[in-house]
Amino acid sequence: MSIDISAYAALSQSLQASQATLVAVSKTKPVEDIQALYDAGQRDFGENYVQELVDKQARLPEDIRWHFIGHLQSNKVKYLAPFVHLIHGVDSGKLLQTIDKQGAAKNRVIRVLLQVHIAREETKFGLDADELTALLQDPAVAGMQHARICGLMGMASFSDDESLVRAEFRQLRQLFDTVKARFFAQDPQFDTLSMGMSGDYRIALEEGSNMVRIGSLLFGARS
Ligand SMILES: *Cc1c(COP(=O)(O)O)cnc(C)c1O
Repeated sequence: MSIDISAYAALSQSLQASQATLVAVSKTKPVEDIQALYDAGQRDFGENYVQELVDKQARLPEDIRWHFIGHLQSNKVKYLAPFVHLIHGVDSGKLLQTIDKQGAAKNRVIRVLLQVHIAREETKFGLDADELTALLQDPAVAGMQHARICGLMGMASFSDDESLVRAEFRQLRQLFDTVKARFFAQDPQFDTLSMGMSGDYRIALEEGSNMVRIGSLLFGARS
């Protein structure tokens, strides 16, 4: 087992100071590792693959809050709909509509974050600022009863250039503030800014993140 409990304790403590939620990213890691972190007190876990998440959910304690942080295909929403706590990577109206429909079918409200493209790299998923605005202006989106938009998520460039990473996080934070003022001023549930991973979470916190997604720092490197 490669899980580092002392790293977890130190990380939890430093996150408490900034009142940020830790999502422990357990993709590719065995249920024993997740259970060990659970026993140390962790409750929020993130996964990238639907089948893997569903399998682990069935084998682990019921009070785990499961976050889906990968790229979600519409035809797989139904597998997550019964229990998922938060879907981070929503980047289209079509996916949002499917989530709303599946939420209605399961008689629950599914919480989501809209993913914004902030990195220079072309490969990362997400909406740009104009697409985000267009989506939020869509009356069909405003009328959804079973998909609730709770904030934004983004990934910075994978880079050693700290000023670049910081600028990207700052841009996302500013977009969050703008969108909140314009579309969610009366909605206290729009409150989550998910940014920061093992390599850049300190910068993300300094730039206003209140949810970090951390894998390798806790579970060791993925093969
Ligand atoms: C894998 C992953 C993480 C965690 O990455 P680490 O560098 O291991 O902390 C965070 N967010 C997303 C979207 C991921 O896919």
